[in-house]
Amino acid sequence: MTDQNEHDELAALRMLVENSTDMLSRHTPTGTYTYVSPACRELLGYEPEELLGRSAYDLFHPDDLAAVSANHDEVLEQPDVRTIVYRIRHRDGHYIWFETTSHAVRDPRDGEIVEIQTSSRDVTRRVEAETRLRRSEQQFRLAMEHAPIGMALVGLDGSFLEVNDQLAHVVGRTAAELRTLRFQDITHPDDLDADLAYVQQLLDGEIDRYSMAKRYIRADGSIIWVLLSGSLVRDVDGSPDHFVAQIQDISQQILQEEGLRAANEALERLVNEDLLTGLATRRAVLRALDSELTRDDRHGRGVAVMLADVDRFKRVNDRHGHAEGDRVLRDIASVVPGAVRQVDVVGRFGGEELLVVLPEVAAPAALSIAERVRTQVSTHVSSPDGPVTVSIGVAVRRPAESAEQLIARADQALYRAKRAGRDNVQGEAPAPKA
Ligand code: GH3
Ligand code: MG
Ligand code: MG
Repeated sequence: MTDQNEHDELAALRMLVENSTDMLSRHTPTGTYTYVSPACRELLGYEPEELLGRSAYDLFHPDDLAAVSANHDEVLEQPDVRTIVYRIRHRDGHYIWFETTSHAVRDPRDGEIVEIQTSSRDVTRRVEAETRLRRSEQQFRLAMEHAPIGMALVGLDGSFLEVNDQLAHVVGRTAAELRTLRFQDITHPDDLDADLAYVQQLLDGEIDRYSMAKRYIRADGSIIWVLLSGSLVRDVDGSPDHFVAQIQDISQQILQEEGLRAANEALERLVNEDLLTGLATRRAVLRALDSELTRDDRHGRGVAVMLADVDRFKRVNDRHGHAEGDRVLRDIASVVPGAVRQVDVVGRFGGEELLVVLPEVAAPAALSIAERVRTQVSTHVSSPDGPVTVSIGVAVRRPAESAEQLIARADQALYRAKRAGRDNVQGEAPAPKA
């Protein structure tokens, strides 16, 4: 190599050093700057000359001194290049994060260390981003750990990756055991298809999240109802990564709902089914009549009602007691439905009075059904005094007649039946004499 060549080579290397955005420096073995590249202006706010002769230790963050010093010792003891990240003070007083690689330069003759060379770059943004990420991961973990509801991170195959204690508690297993299972393993078989269908919709991007009431099978085999909210977390490139599940124990609500449903059914029965006789209540039989009137308005096929009243019933009570009277009423209630047609509705209209709705009949049919009721009762129902009889009034609906009008006419017919000596059936009032 000629002198000229060597000179050009050195000039090129010098340019490389001076134009580098990394700060290149040389130190004495104890850390005093002997050369600093111009990048120190941009990075630390110093002119290179200001740093010459100063110890780098003046600029390190007090909390990093021990680590930097240990690194320094290793650089002196070992031949390889070492990298360390630490804080260094900018001229204006604030600290920046430096990533510095250092190595020791030795005298080839005796191996004595002559200097330390370093190359440093500003990694503040990277370190801060890492800190933020670590903090948000920590916060997520804390939030998950202390969440009042069950939470899980679930792999694409359904395995529980992370679970909190609350979830473990809800499904009656330890967190460690849960992490060996997939949600499919503890989901009630009847709820699995619906859950998997939602999961598929998440994967296909059709929905962002879903909620469903479902059952888990606990370790002891018992079943627990939960409200599950599921969502999917995707990678930066958009491909599915894992699911997030929130799980709330709703067994209490389900139990309450079941209790409510049972109470409602009981109430419904109470409203529609007469306690003593099991027949339709007044309310239920009137509702049946209303709907028959509506059908009759539409199709004109006719509807009739009959009112049946027990004859001299007060006597049964008076002579044999109320319980005996009740027994007679129940016997009548068991006989009448068998004497009418399947479509007829028998209700207890009042104390010892029955109302029967007869859809789609004209007068002769209605009267013969009533006659059958009368004979069946007197044949099959008795008190200690002998056969129990009923008097019956029948009315066939006139066009556009209301329920009240229709029943009132049946009541008038019943009154005539009583007047005619009881135990008989009366229909249409005879036409007034001309
Ligand atoms: P008639 O209809 O033939 O004129 O005479 P009756 O004795 O049946 O007439 P009334 O309407 O005066 O009496 C009806 C009786 O029915 C009076 C009431 O104490 C009785 N009664 C009403 N509801 C019940 C009940 O649920 N159980 C019993 N044991 N008796 C009842
Ligand atoms: Mg009566
Ligand atoms: Mg009576």
